[in-house]
Amino acid sequence: MNVMAELDNVTKMYGKITALNGISLKIPRGEIFTLIGPNGSGKTTLLKILACIEKPTKGKVYFDGQLVEERSMPEFRLKSTMVFQKTVLFNASIYENVAYGLKLRGFSKEEINERVRTVLKLVKLEGYEKRSAKKLSGGEQQRVSLARALALRTELLLLDEPMANLDQRSASIIEAAISQIRQETNTTIILATHDMFQVETLSEKVALINNGKLIHVGKTREILEHSRKLTDFARIENIFSGVSCITKDGTSRIDVGDNMQIEASMRRSGKISVFVRPEDIILSKIKFASSARNVFEGRIVEILDLGPTVRLRIDAGKQFVVQITKHSFIEMQLNLSSKVFVTFKASSVHTID
Ligand code: ADP
Repeated sequence: MNVMAELDNVTKMYGKITALNGISLKIPRGEIFTLIGPNGSGKTTLLKILACIEKPTKGKVYFDGQLVEERSMPEFRLKSTMVFQKTVLFNASIYENVAYGLKLRGFSKEEINERVRTVLKLVKLEGYEKRSAKKLSGGEQQRVSLARALALRTELLLLDEPMANLDQRSASIIEAAISQIRQETNTTIILATHDMFQVETLSEKVALINNGKLIHVGKTREILEHSRKLTDFARIENIFSGVSCITKDGTSRIDVGDNMQIEASMRRSGKISVFVRPEDIILSKIKFASSARNVFEGRIVEILDLGPTVRLRIDAGKQFVVQITKHSFIEMQLNLSSKVFVTFKASSVHTID
């Protein structure tokens, strides 16, 4: 394997939090490598370390076989570009936003114009040069952000969930742009995501991480064939970790912190991570009588319109992601900070390991 970058037993601590725990990983050159794992599993931290923005607490990072040392970090930083999940564009024209990094690197005006035109075409924003970046939709802003990164033509492109929470059209355009870059250049792309569809359609190799640990790494097809369960958890967001004890009914009560206890139908005691699929959660405005063991009151803190469906984030002490149809959303007259109940059965709570 032609290795572009390598992590050797990398651990990253933020104070007492272990964001990455002894990760060893080789990134093959010229491929799309996906990193999959739930929120908080360490994907962003891993990308930042590869981007040489963050320094590992322990372990080593190599680029083209060369050890990255603290003093050489700025030099290695130029080899890659990272696109963050939350786009930050300057309050200037789209042209200025895309050209900025190129100007800093001293490219000629002609070269800058040519690159800006090419990348804007790639993200289907040709002719938008003079528009104000701040007036764009979230999806368009993310496309500008990708264009800005692509214009630099670095060897390594690090994409941190670039399609998360975008409208379908922008997500498809970004997906197509990534594919095209893969086909037409030798750029190595690392894509963090928790969307299995993107993993299946885009990537050649995939690494699964959870709680800062590498669980599995291999060819995408092999992983999809052999580890349905592992890949299953990675695409969902309602993951809770805590300590479980067995109740007198033979179920498990898991204390997940923030005053929340989740009941699960399996018998397990000790430390455990569980998930609940968004489609297994029932949302209601009033508490309804049901045999479901888990009922929590919360408020809507985020609403994302995905066309036929609406994705809601509910803060009930812990946060839940629930997906409902647009029709139910309208019928229930839901708004930001509406009070709601989330309800799910003990049998809808699954263990990760
Ligand atoms: P992901 O990208 O998979 O959501 P992150 O790499 O962002 O995961 O986070 C991994 C863990 O490290 C989480 O527990 C997160 O809260 C923590 N973390 C990340 N960045 C920081 C930081 N700057 N300070 C403190 N904790 C952090």
